[in-house]
Amino acid sequence: MCERGIVIAIDGPAGAGKSTTARLVAQGLGYLYLDTGAMYRAVGLGALQAGLDPDDEAGVVSLLQKMQIDMRSSRESQLTLLNGKDVSVEIRMPEVSDAASRVATHTGVREVLVIRQREIGKDGGIVLEGRDTGTVIFPDAELKVFLVADVEARAERRMLELAEKGETADFQDLVVQIRERDVRDRETQLQFGPWPPADAVPIDTTGQSIEAQVDQVITLAMDRGAQVGGSG
Ligand code: C5P
Repeated sequence: MCERGIVIAIDGPAGAGKSTTARLVAQGLGYLYLDTGAMYRAVGLGALQAGLDPDDEAGVVSLLQKMQIDMRSSRESQLTLLNGKDVSVEIRMPEVSDAASRVATHTGVREVLVIRQREIGKDGGIVLEGRDTGTVIFPDAELKVFLVADVEARAERRMLELAEKGETADFQDLVVQIRERDVRDRETQLQFGPWPPADAVPIDTTGQSIEAQVDQVITLAMDRGAQVGGSG
């Protein structure tokens, strides 16, 4: 048993079901949930709002020093605040996804955010979701999970998410966008070492229900010392 609660790092490419799985695992265990990608998204949004090119590293790093990013984590959800304003919905816009993926390539941006993420998770009892959670932020996390899914399955999920918001998209365009992000995200992570981490448990979510994914992760977590209800 682990008194302080374990650290669970959930990673995988865009659209593999990380967010939903991570949030529900955190809820099921009574753990904190941290969506690290939301922090990159906040930086990307801040850059766009300031009229900055997300590829301009010096400009973005300088802006980040003046930006206030707050993650209001509760046991059930997470709000992202940029300079005191709730931007949880705005950061999900496609242009912000692109800007986030670009600002995430800057070492200066990553250094600042990783310090914040380690601070938030230092007491354990947390599920962190994002690309470098099991390599850079918490290389000693007790459980690392790497979710994967076919690119078509991921594009289909994205179509459904958009449809729920009353938006439409071309399926092939989504496939192309996801592939492009995969390449850029992978290159970004490989700068910092092997990715995915060798000790991550791979879970293929193609055709799997969310409930099944969540159950699988909770079972793994309990095998590694997690206890339902926050401690352990
Ligand atoms: O996971 P999500 O799609 O919200 O992440 C937004 C962007 O932030 C991704 O394109 C990814 O490159 C980047 N990211 C990262 N490291 C993390 C989380 C996200 O580089 N820990």
